[in-house]
Amino acid sequence: MSTTTFTPRTVLITGGNRGIGYAIASEFVAQGHRVAVTARSGEGPAGTLTVRADVTDSASIDAAFTEVEAALGPVEVVVANAGITRDTLLMRMSETDFTAVIDANLTGAFRVVKRSSKGMLKARFGRIILISSVVGLYGSAGQVNYSSSKAGLVGLARSVTRELGARGITANVVAPGFIETEMTAELSDALQTEYKKSIPAGRFATPTEVARVVTWLASDDAAYISGAVIPVDGGLGMGH
Ligand code: NDP
Repeated sequence: MSTTTFTPRTVLITGGNRGIGYAIASEFVAQGHRVAVTARSGEGPAGTLTVRADVTDSASIDAAFTEVEAALGPVEVVVANAGITRDTLLMRMSETDFTAVIDANLTGAFRVVKRSSKGMLKARFGRIILISSVVGLYGSAGQVNYSSSKAGLVGLARSVTRELGARGITANVVAPGFIETEMTAELSDALQTEYKKSIPAGRFATPTEVARVVTWLASDDAAYISGAVIPVDGGLGMGH
């Protein structure tokens, strides 16, 4: 009979006060890990340590990591989840609309990954998981900024894999499709029905369905997976 090993880890998730980040934090807590979340406002789920951080500010990221390390030990698993949208068509998109989204979603992930790599290199262990989106590789009208930032995460994870792969560190991308969050709840019924028609699964996913893929990538069972893009999109991107 085969057995699966379980090692409790120190986990840090950015943007863990709501949506997908909250679900990821809940799932890690349920599995018995030591879990911290960053939040600009609000709190992570029960059982987590909430620290204040803004991913557009390196100093605040550094302070958040230092606080988590002091309370829970070196960060072994990091999930770069915080993200924003500023959608508009290319012709109307200002340079500020573009760079603000890149700064939060892509440079923000870079800041978090760079800070986490310090402790991971020392420990010769690490799991880096970047929350991208199906539109990173699929493209999306009105989201030139957002899809560019999400595609950039693939290059980030793959380059980190090549740099740090021999030190017990993996870096992977999770690419969700439509997830039931505040964002998708705001869509009209007609638009929701139209989107669902284009998804082979015929439905949106729950945040927990994304969270379980993230916890699996952090597990001992996923030790030999790195540089991968794992879609959680009901077939929308056809595996990219
Ligand atoms: P939400 O809008 O519900 O939450 C976004 C989170 O990111 C919040 O915790 C927010 O914090 C945080 N955040 C935003 N900007 C910053 C910043 N500068 N510094 C720190 N934290 C910040 O999003 P979702 O839960 O829906 O999405 C989570 C991730 O999943 C995002 O990266 C998103 O792009 C991605 N995704 C979502 C999909 C969906 O259908 N919902 C589909 C595909 C990908 P605060 O509360 O303080 O604003």
